[in-house]
Amino acid sequence: MSTTYQKPTERGYYGQFGGAFIPEMLYPNVEELRHNYLDIMAEPAFQEEYQQLLRDYVGRPTPLFEAKRLSEKYNTRIFLKREDLCHTGAHKVNNTVGQILLAKRLGKTRIIAETGAGQHGVATATVCALMGMQCIVYMGEIDMERQKPNVYRMRLLGAEVRAAMSGSRTLKDATNEAIRDWISNPVDTHYIIGSVVGPHPYPDLVARLQAVISEEMRKQLLEKTGSELPQYVVACVGGGSNAAGAFYHFLEEPSVKLVAVEAAGHGVNSGHSAATSVLGKPGIIHGSRTLLMQDEDGQITEPYSLSAGLDYPGIGPLHAFLADSGRARFISIEDEPALKAVAECSRLEGIIPALETAHALAALGQLGAGPDDVVVVNLSGRGDKDLETYIKYADAIM
Ligand SMILES: *Cc1c(COP(=O)(O)O)cnc(C)c1O
Repeated sequence: MSTTYQKPTERGYYGQFGGAFIPEMLYPNVEELRHNYLDIMAEPAFQEEYQQLLRDYVGRPTPLFEAKRLSEKYNTRIFLKREDLCHTGAHKVNNTVGQILLAKRLGKTRIIAETGAGQHGVATATVCALMGMQCIVYMGEIDMERQKPNVYRMRLLGAEVRAAMSGSRTLKDATNEAIRDWISNPVDTHYIIGSVVGPHPYPDLVARLQAVISEEMRKQLLEKTGSELPQYVVACVGGGSNAAGAFYHFLEEPSVKLVAVEAAGHGVNSGHSAATSVLGKPGIIHGSRTLLMQDEDGQITEPYSLSAGLDYPGIGPLHAFLADSGRARFISIEDEPALKAVAECSRLEGIIPALETAHALAALGQLGAGPDDVVVVNLSGRGDKDLETYIKYADAIM
């Protein structure tokens, strides 16, 4: 079976990237999911419930907004896909709503998740409350200290937040704890992964659940511009789920330029960066073969970005393939221009974006788009969660 950008092979490969590199004891869990996810998602009853929740609970379709003042500034036609208007303030809930319906149909009663900044944890705790399911979220002890409001949100929603105390006590340690939990509870538990990462079938599963973003874009573009196809689609990449969703229905349309924006932190060559497509080499992280930042001995290098959602040492295997094949162009943006883009979008459009999203906005000047081009930026989330950071860096912004 050959790979397309939309569909990995049966074993989950996008070119040389993907697969499922997991400990023996996790095999039954992942196999159960792999055998069932496509059939369950194709069931009319699943689709009906998923579409209804997307509409009435998440608030879809999200608007496609023509940003006239940004368009004037960059001398091109810019649209913002408003994922910031989703319930819980970002795209992540598209995935958790879909995965909890899948978990229910697999007969699971208990949900686990890992979270870094807490956004995926909140989106998971939200849908567990909705479905009356037990929810345990693993979070590094350091992250719990840094992201207190999200810890309280999860608790308010009825989730139990468990501190990961090993290693650097951040996201990768929380992921290890979640995997350990899943090995101990294979029968009743589903693990909701938050991005297009992890062993097959997760990257494909999450991409399909986020694909609603580009499905809506095509319809909305046709209505607003007379064509379903824009010249550019731009999205930020942490693990890559919002970008996968924004790119999905354009992957096989060669006229559409796909632009993935990574966080360069203090600079790609500063040693404090998360620009995986530039700095990464093929390796295995969290169960899949992909590009990841590592030293000469293959040890994972600590990533850095001011933006918690982009502070990840890998990218999903689909994005590794998009980078490797040249189908997508990868741009990296440092902390400071991202902060400036926060202020620019706030002042020109009255929309305060998340710091992750601001990296995508900061790339607008580098696209080479002309006055007749249509550019869609995926506005992955709102900036409320980042307000403390914006206050701290007010000097850099204003
Ligand atoms: C989590 C997050 C991201 C990064 O995750 P992806 O899987 O790369 O989309 C980007 N933007 C926002 C607002 C987020 O919360």
